[in-house]
Amino acid sequence: MALAFADRLAAAQAGTHALIDLDALAGNVQAVRARLPEDVVLMGVVKANAYGHGLIPCARALLAAGARWLGVARIEEGLALRGAGITAPVLVLGPPNYALLQPALDADLTLAVGSAADVAAIARAASGDFGPARLHLKVDTGMRRFGVEMDEALELVQAIVADPRLELEGLFTHFATADEPDPGFLREQARRFRQVRHLLARHGIAPRVVHQANSAAALRGVVGDADLPGERLVRAGIVLYGLPPSAAVPAPPDARPALQLETRLARVFTVAAGEGISYGHTYVAGREIRCGLAPIGYGDGLSRLLSNCGWFVVRSTRCPIRGRVCMDQTVIEVSRVSGVEAGEPALVLGDGRSGEMTAVDIAELCGTIPYEVVTALAARVPRIFLRGGQPVAVSDLAGLVEERP
Ligand SMILES: *Cc1c(COP(=O)(O)O)cnc(C)c1O
Repeated sequence: MALAFADRLAAAQAGTHALIDLDALAGNVQAVRARLPEDVVLMGVVKANAYGHGLIPCARALLAAGARWLGVARIEEGLALRGAGITAPVLVLGPPNYALLQPALDADLTLAVGSAADVAAIARAASGDFGPARLHLKVDTGMRRFGVEMDEALELVQAIVADPRLELEGLFTHFATADEPDPGFLREQARRFRQVRHLLARHGIAPRVVHQANSAAALRGVVGDADLPGERLVRAGIVLYGLPPSAAVPAPPDARPALQLETRLARVFTVAAGEGISYGHTYVAGREIRCGLAPIGYGDGLSRLLSNCGWFVVRSTRCPIRGRVCMDQTVIEVSRVSGVEAGEPALVLGDGRSGEMTAVDIAELCGTIPYEVVTALAARVPRIFLRGGQPVAVSDLAGLVEERP
């Protein structure tokens, strides 16, 4: 028999779990909106399981807080949103998977296209039963990843416009260096995109929506000109989760990280002086120490690069990771906290207010970016979603269950 909400919540709380503060997401939407011109529309980017935070509850929270669009990378992610009953416009940002075009169009997803082949494949799949397939043409202005070359954009636009099975709803580009200290190439890409918009306008083609900014560009105010045709949209991801795009582009001071990762010690034990801990004995106790065993490892998304350098927080005290992070377990030293027993909560990742590692700290220790730290959080880590500080939903390997009051 499937466990009910209360049982799934209790199970999650008893082990490793993530707490997702939906009010923080809403506050972050406000913090970003407050920095944008009034007319600019917000797309909440929820690809990769909402940057590890949990797709469906986060998508709903962002929409309720004022995001008008959702952005995903893959058609499957868009189908999952539709499966949960979300009817807001959804743009699939990445190159379309041709094997999923039919379901994508049936589900009323908006598709990004970057080549004549993309356009032709979608035209073939569009039955016309639901009106024309809505496309956003991606123009490569310098990212050198996905998108039509600038000098081929007009021809592709004209092919879309001429096909009654298709509608050119949007035009967009993506910046390569919006989060770098030097804004030079960001400005250059913005200039190139403006050229494309002018070119289309001269040919009497005016896509209804136009977008260029990710979080970093949005925070820098590079959101496109208002004097050219098209509703302006920004595609914000990382900042909505309360994390900074980079050191050069911090999150707004009123944004807060929405995710906290907690575990509970399964065992507390003494390690004698001279004994090694965990695989390879990379840590050898110099004196007798007290250790706690946490049921979390790289299989949960806790990087193995944190071996012997990361820390958890127990009762506001930093407790260093001793030895290697394993797939499912990690040992911390709890000598500095007295009276620790099995069942003791330990904070792994959060906003840093209790001295715990932030996603930025972990990224620095592991030589990566906060994006990867939160996105790495594995499916087997249950997410507990909070509103007003109270759990309102749990997602675990059995799926999403919401509290029914
Ligand atoms: C992921 C992504 C975004 C969001 O980027 P953030 O830096 O998280 O704001 C925007 N646009 C595209 C095309 C993306 O792939």
